[in-house]
Amino acid sequence: MAKQPPACPICGRRSSEAYRPFCTPRCQEVDLGRWLTGVYRVPGPPAELDDDPPPSSDAA
Ligand SMILES: [Zn+2]
Repeated sequence: MAKQPPACPICGRRSSEAYRPFCTPRCQEVDLGRWLTGVYRVPGPPAELDDDPPPSSDAA
């Protein structure tokens, strides 16, 4: 049984063996650009927040 290739996450077309999971190098670049521009967030807690004051001096 031939497995159906996954759809391209960018445009939804059938992915190409050469560029999977994308269908074309164009979609590959689009995905890479999303990573670089921060559209995709790494799941998990935010790393190194310097804007968070320590929960001290709570004498109220
Ligand atoms: Zn595509």
